[in-house]
Amino acid sequence: MTGITSTQLADGRELIYFDDAGPRADRPRTKTATPDRRELPDRAAPGEIRFDALTDEWVAVAAHRQTRTHLPPADQCPICPTTAANPSEIPAPDYDVVVFENRFPSLGPAAGHIPREPGWGTTGPAYGRCEVVSFTPEHTGSFSTLGEARARTVVEAWAHRTEALSKLPGIRQVFPFENRGADIGVTLHHPHGQIYAYPYITPRAATLGTAARKFYDGSDGRQTLTGSLLRAEREDGSRMVMEGENFSAYVPFAARWPLEIHLVPHRQVPDLAALSGEEKDELAHVYLDLLKRLDALYPTPTPYISAWHQAPLDDLLRPASYLHLQLTSPRRAADKLKYLAGSEAAMGAFINDVTPESVAERLRAVTVPASAATTAPLRTQPEGAHA
Ligand SMILES: [Zn+2]
Repeated sequence: MTGITSTQLADGRELIYFDDAGPRADRPRTKTATPDRRELPDRAAPGEIRFDALTDEWVAVAAHRQTRTHLPPADQCPICPTTAANPSEIPAPDYDVVVFENRFPSLGPAAGHIPREPGWGTTGPAYGRCEVVSFTPEHTGSFSTLGEARARTVVEAWAHRTEALSKLPGIRQVFPFENRGADIGVTLHHPHGQIYAYPYITPRAATLGTAARKFYDGSDGRQTLTGSLLRAEREDGSRMVMEGENFSAYVPFAARWPLEIHLVPHRQVPDLAALSGEEKDELAHVYLDLLKRLDALYPTPTPYISAWHQAPLDDLLRPASYLHLQLTSPRRAADKLKYLAGSEAAMGAFINDVTPESVAERLRAVTVPASAATTAPLRTQPEGAHA
């Protein structure tokens, strides 16, 4: 069992230690963490959200974030364990995985309900919560270099936070994600991810949720869209990257990005909190395998966005929604990134320069470092039709 210890930082923010399962005599347990003795200013009130009547979408205005930490030197890293010289955000000499409220949040710290029937000129407090997830006390490396036990602890942290944040007043969507690489705007090198709890359903989730609900209604509630796509991809085989017992990954039929992989559980669950222990165990394994494949494509680390799509907290959309990961990268060659230009940025109309089938083939063919194959091997060759 993952050990979970909740505490508070000097300004009242919540911080939670997640300790790897299993006995560890070699390091102090994070339960013995010292209190945060820093002098910190009071937390600011939430920023503002504004309703964009033109698109029926909310926009968060977070002008106060301009002063946030940007690529600090390693000896001033805010998510390394605290030392005498660097009183960091984590007041412990060591830890495994830690989650804490962002000091410069786009949403929150207060939670609550936003205006229900907004129009032009409607504003509201940017309610919600933004959390940081540090994957490791080590400053260098990345998720793909974590051991499987540590990756499993991160999965447990995602599930725990999804459940807890879903219960906050007014929250409509919980979004765990990781931005990897300075090319896509990472402001801290230390391996970490984030979790946003939104007081509204985001535009992308609304689009996916509406399509999923339409399909679900069309089958009289007997099938889900994501489940049917997973079945179709496994039967076709040409875009499969890996197949496990409980999860499979494929490059989607109409991939938008030069590198795009969807990792989908075989069982319909709304979110990470609904996964069984066995499913979480396998997820830690297959997710590491997937990231190692991505990193094996090029000699240098590939920037990516790893985005967990979880069911919105919405009575209409939730029954048809289906947890899955969308892993995307703008990298289209060793030295080239795709930039979102006119068609994509202005019109949302994507043009992909590579075929999804060729990307899947490359991802299947790469040699994954042996440490990923510590448990049951995953099938990476398509087998044609499945029963
Ligand atoms: Zn660090």
